[in-house]
Amino acid sequence: MQKRPSFPARLQQAEKTPLPYVPSGIRRSGTGVTAGISATASVASGSDTRSVREHMVQRLIRAGIRAPEVLAAMSAVERHQFVDSALANRAYEDTSLPIGLAQTISKPSIVARMLELLLASANGSGGVRSGRVLEVGTGCGYQTALLARLAGEVYSIERLRGLHERARGNLRPLRLANVHLLFGDGMLGFPSGAPYAGILAAAGGSSVPAAWCDQLGVGGRLVAPVADSAGAQSLVVVDRTAQGWKEVTLEAVHFVPLKSGTS
Ligand code: SAH
Repeated sequence: MQKRPSFPARLQQAEKTPLPYVPSGIRRSGTGVTAGISATASVASGSDTRSVREHMVQRLIRAGIRAPEVLAAMSAVERHQFVDSALANRAYEDTSLPIGLAQTISKPSIVARMLELLLASANGSGGVRSGRVLEVGTGCGYQTALLARLAGEVYSIERLRGLHERARGNLRPLRLANVHLLFGDGMLGFPSGAPYAGILAAAGGSSVPAAWCDQLGVGGRLVAPVADSAGAQSLVVVDRTAQGWKEVTLEAVHFVPLKSGTS
């Protein structure tokens, strides 16, 4: 389990200057990314993918995402830095991609959808903004980086050591002082960080673990994929009020399975 990093909370600023749209051929390099269409189209720094991300954000808006904080975070975080270099040129497509150990980074539209749902809790985005969020399934750390921009403190837990380490490596350059990366079984939640203003799961089980409901604070919201008895997953939102828990089932989704234990 990693302790809170000591470096300052500083995020890379989004580039202000508009850059030409780079439709394909982005690849990661030691210093950043390169648009490999032609020698003259080559660009040299990570911020050069900003216009490709803007196209992704425009797609998200067309798909119905409205929360300005979510759109700003999606526009700022460089998704290509979280996938293998061989897949970096597909990083801004609306598709899930393999991240190793049979797991996947979720597609941007579902990530944005879940973040928007999380911010729309009874306490509003202010509850998450000033509070703690538990993310179950760190994976490559992409969604963690987005949450770091939206929440007060982020506790992100991963059960596969290889991915926990990978996320740590991916997030290190971003110096996110409000992110706590944890290695463990997220089905048990993380009691030391409770109560949470929000809980977000990126893996789906057959029900919402009781520990998550217990660790959700009053006014908080939990967003998770849950499978029915036939194995079909839907997005489930659980709101905790002073009276108890209220569950709503939304659209069909496809996430990797929530598994117990660590490996
Ligand atoms: N949001 C992640 C998605 C990763 S896929 C990203 O941006 O990359 C879901 C992750 O959930 C996988 O890495 C999987 O190992 C993890 N997972 C599944 N069950 C878990 C559990 N009980 N505790 C913690 N992580 C779990």
